[in-house]
Amino acid sequence: MAAVSVPSTPSIWFDLEHARRVGFTVAPPRKVDVPLIDVHTHAGRRPDTVLLLDAARRYGVTRLVTIAPLDECLWLQERYPDRIIPATTLTYDHRDDPARLAAENLALLERAVAAGLKVVKFWFKPRFNADTGLKLDDARLAPIFRFLGRHRMVALVHIADPDAWWQKYYTDPTRYDSKEATYLQAERAMAAYPEVRFILAHLGGDPEHLDHLDRLLSTYPNLYLDTSATKWLVRELGRQPETARAFFQRWPDRILFGTDQVVRVRTEPACYTSRYWVHQIFWETGIVCPSPIPDADSDGPPMIHGLNLPAEVLRSVYYENAVHLLFD
Ligand SMILES: [Zn+2]
Repeated sequence: MAAVSVPSTPSIWFDLEHARRVGFTVAPPRKVDVPLIDVHTHAGRRPDTVLLLDAARRYGVTRLVTIAPLDECLWLQERYPDRIIPATTLTYDHRDDPARLAAENLALLERAVAAGLKVVKFWFKPRFNADTGLKLDDARLAPIFRFLGRHRMVALVHIADPDAWWQKYYTDPTRYDSKEATYLQAERAMAAYPEVRFILAHLGGDPEHLDHLDRLLSTYPNLYLDTSATKWLVRELGRQPETARAFFQRWPDRILFGTDQVVRVRTEPACYTSRYWVHQIFWETGIVCPSPIPDADSDGPPMIHGLNLPAEVLRSVYYENAVHLLFD
């Protein structure tokens, strides 16, 4: 009798081919009714930022933490005050002059605090360590971390890359620490600044080793993880969905939803919608299907093995933990 304007088979919402045909513009029904916060994206003073914001809106993502240099952060905040929570980067040009390094960044952080910013991004991956000689526990950064602690700011840190990258890119041991050793700088910083909340991006940079993340989370109460890096997390957690689900159930209050969507120039809207689609399928359902995101690190065609996280875990990860960290 009643005319239905949407496909009547529920599974069509989760069907990759259907989703592809509509450019991933229609989000499947959500398992939980919370306004999602994506705590890890990269945007800027670029026209395509609207494509990311539009994709987010379609998937119920109401607010996004966007990483950018401070001036772009302020521009984005003024332009999209209800949608964007900017996260500023710092400047390391004068790292050879510790007093100047501190003074420039403290001045930058004063401006950030005056504008209400809450998050500072540290991109301390192995290549940055090697190129700059700076590690997260470097004494030159102490004034910066003390400032973050005083102002209840959050440090969002990229600390490590996939295991496979140590076979592909970080093969020179005179230039790069091992993956295990690279964590020492993060551990020392978390121990030295217990008043600073740290979010280690990309599930701590170690979705391959959930036992390692268990140890870090048990040891450092100021540590949180985000779920960003779509291909990497879908690949590694999807290898062991039961173990991954149990991990999320052990730490529902310490993991925050993030995607690592990056706004580039002249992109297709589906770049952004497809990633939100993959995240939703992966976290919320037990569906096994091909992934629409190419993955150079995958052996064979990339697949999604959904984790089917319980609703109460999703509520914390999607929303409550971000509110607690960013707004309490
Ligand atoms: Zn990122």
